[in-house]
Amino acid sequence: MRKTLLYLLIFCYAPLLIQAQQPKKLNASEIYESIQKLNFLGSVLYVGAHPDDENTRLISYLSNEIKARTAYLSMTRGDGGQNLIGPEIRELLGVIRTEELLGARHIDGGEQLFTRANDFGYSKNPDETLSIWDKDKVLSDVVLAIRKFKPDVIINRFDHRTPGTTHGHHTSSAMLSVKAFDLANKQSAFPEQLNQTSLWQPQRLFFNTSWWFYGSQEKFDKADKTNLMTINTGTYFPSKGLSNSEIAALSRSSHKTQGFGSTGSRGEETEYLELLKGDLPTDKSNIFDGIDTSWNRVKGGKPIGNILNKVESDYDFNNPSASIPELVKAYQLIQKLDDEHWRTLKSKAIKNIIAACAGLYLEAVANTNQATPNSSVPLTIEAINRSNTNIALESLNINNHLVSKHITLKNNQDKTIKDTLLISKNQEPTTPYWLMHKGTLGMYRVDNPVLIGLPETPPAAAVEFNLLIDNVPVTISKPVVYKTNDPVKGEVYKPFVIIPEVSAKVAEKVIIFNTDEQKEIPVIVKAGKDKVEGYVSIAHPKGWSVYPEKQTISIVHKGEEQTLVFTIIPPKNENEGLITPMIHIGDSIYTKELDEIDYDHIPFQTVLLPSESKVVRLDIQKKGDNIAYIEGAGDVVPESLKQIGYNVVTISPKDINAETLSRFDAVVVGVRAYNTVEDLKYKQQVLFDFVKQGGNMIVQYNTNSRLKVDDLAPYDLSLSRDRVTDEHAEVTFLNPNNPLLNYPNKITQKDFEGWTQERGLYFPDKWSDNFTPILSMHDKGETPKDGSLLVAKYGKGYYIYTGLSFFREFPEGVSGAYRLFANMLSIGKDNIKVTTKLKN
Ligand SMILES: [Zn+2]
Repeated sequence: MRKTLLYLLIFCYAPLLIQAQQPKKLNASEIYESIQKLNFLGSVLYVGAHPDDENTRLISYLSNEIKARTAYLSMTRGDGGQNLIGPEIRELLGVIRTEELLGARHIDGGEQLFTRANDFGYSKNPDETLSIWDKDKVLSDVVLAIRKFKPDVIINRFDHRTPGTTHGHHTSSAMLSVKAFDLANKQSAFPEQLNQTSLWQPQRLFFNTSWWFYGSQEKFDKADKTNLMTINTGTYFPSKGLSNSEIAALSRSSHKTQGFGSTGSRGEETEYLELLKGDLPTDKSNIFDGIDTSWNRVKGGKPIGNILNKVESDYDFNNPSASIPELVKAYQLIQKLDDEHWRTLKSKAIKNIIAACAGLYLEAVANTNQATPNSSVPLTIEAINRSNTNIALESLNINNHLVSKHITLKNNQDKTIKDTLLISKNQEPTTPYWLMHKGTLGMYRVDNPVLIGLPETPPAAAVEFNLLIDNVPVTISKPVVYKTNDPVKGEVYKPFVIIPEVSAKVAEKVIIFNTDEQKEIPVIVKAGKDKVEGYVSIAHPKGWSVYPEKQTISIVHKGEEQTLVFTIIPPKNENEGLITPMIHIGDSIYTKELDEIDYDHIPFQTVLLPSESKVVRLDIQKKGDNIAYIEGAGDVVPESLKQIGYNVVTISPKDINAETLSRFDAVVVGVRAYNTVEDLKYKQQVLFDFVKQGGNMIVQYNTNSRLKVDDLAPYDLSLSRDRVTDEHAEVTFLNPNNPLLNYPNKITQKDFEGWTQERGLYFPDKWSDNFTPILSMHDKGETPKDGSLLVAKYGKGYYIYTGLSFFREFPEGVSGAYRLFANMLSIGKDNIKVTTKLKN
């Protein structure tokens, strides 16, 4: 079913997907809109916490109707979100969501910025968020974004005055934005940034409110609106054939990993902006009222404005190239501006417009999408002018290597030039810059300050086309790309990247040893170039052994893989650490794995991460062997239980019947199964009967809204939104003698150490007396929450409901989570021993 959905998603948006990967080719209407934007010198920065927080209606309206330069500053890249379309989580999900945001901006006309903050998961309030993010660094990044982007107006998605009412990341984004508004123009704030940018004072700060923030439409209708601006964003754009809301919906639908497909509407739409700082405009429908957004705001800008306003009014949709002589004049004047910000920004914009008016197509295509340092790559360079404008290609600058050309580009005469791209031996492999070094839970580490805030790593290689347009020198830079023809998709582009000569990957990220028996671990080595020869050894923690010590590799062709099997012997006692394959080639050692992300809706991504896997020697006992698993929204429980020696069989709802279940000792229900699997509502009685006959049933968390069943459990149980987000929150044993805490593994405080992201979520807050609550825990400043682990005897078996986040702990190899889960599966499987133990 998931596949069908995915197919539909991709199929429906196919025209946009192709656009997202190909270089943009402006049509006559788009050129005109770009000229209008060239003549609007106002800008807006929209601030939120996650990819998908942004109001695409407002961004599209500001960009397409007002023509303002509009950017979305997302604090994070959304690593903590879900992935509905594939297996990537965490860093790799953050990479996909970064590209989804860029895709969204490609559609709504905005730009995209980030901070170094990492989306570490849910947080209840900004205090918690700002203690995990490095508050100063994130504030510094927001200040840097303001100083570099230089917005006249900032709009916060969230309210900075209501901590605790939404995700802590949300409130934090607004709080930091309010602070940064006051700091960006202060010399004393983050002075080191002034090496790369200059001070800036935005004029106005708004909060993008709605009735929702007031609790109800009724309360909102009654509220004092003196400080509110009302903007009708329901514009229809004849040049696009779309309403603003339709553009916004297309943009929103870029968030495919989040399942945010959206359908647009037509007609009036109102957005409300509450003024937080600056003066309230007289015209309460125009956020730029009183701000000069013409060329007059720039010293030396007036004559440029005079030329460009005429270009705009004289623009010929049938012959855009008629605008070129005047555009070139304006370009020359822009080069003379003292103001670096406007000079850089408007030079880039006007060059694109001139090229588009001339139908000038410039491209540099490599014969591969991946090359290694110290290599040379054949390039095919294409240049064509499709106008009568006088254009000559004087020279090419290929990665700092200048080649003279002096070619006249005559109307519609395609020029193809063959050349070579030399990759120096010192060139760094291409990877998302924020993942180059290991960060902390709350922050990415970025060592190069110039990269901070950029949406993605600059291209690995570029070709500069040095042109004479109407005898005026104009340089246009194009990234080197790779393209190929796919029999089904047609022309497919991939970014050109640099990869290491060799990389290695251990498929399992966590390897659990529940006994001292050795395991055989395959290591996959991949060549980044032809003829790779060397050997591989494995770095491992003390007390562990690996055989053989080293194995040779010999790979003939680039892209081929060789699999080596190493035997890992764990120590006798509980222990954990990391193993890393080390590939020795000549004098170099390579320790990275290469992850490739290939979806049709984003450009092909190459990510280098440290190649490491956690090895865990667990001291764990278990009873019962055969587990049936019912899939929910997706977790790694089956794989994890297999690692500790269980036989796990995933059964589909239609196979849930007494006979099938009789083969199992326990049934485990995947996370949110009762929210996502419709058919389970007919199967509850069968499952409860299984428990009655002596089976164990373990149900993991579900959310309390949209439950598909009335009876989650054989006894009364009601879910709440209670959650404990502090993964270090103290855990109290309410029933220390209960078998769940004693058999077959003695659970102690140590088992709650090293948990990750959170303790648990959506705990029940009411339950029948038949249930025994086992644990109590709570976040700072809250009342104890006792519903994280509830057990009830039903007939001869046990029903257990748990909101504990096993689905987060298992993939991280948290040993206490495995031991507690083994007890849940084992309960009642050896009644005699348990009773004896309890009597003691
Ligand atoms: Zn959010």
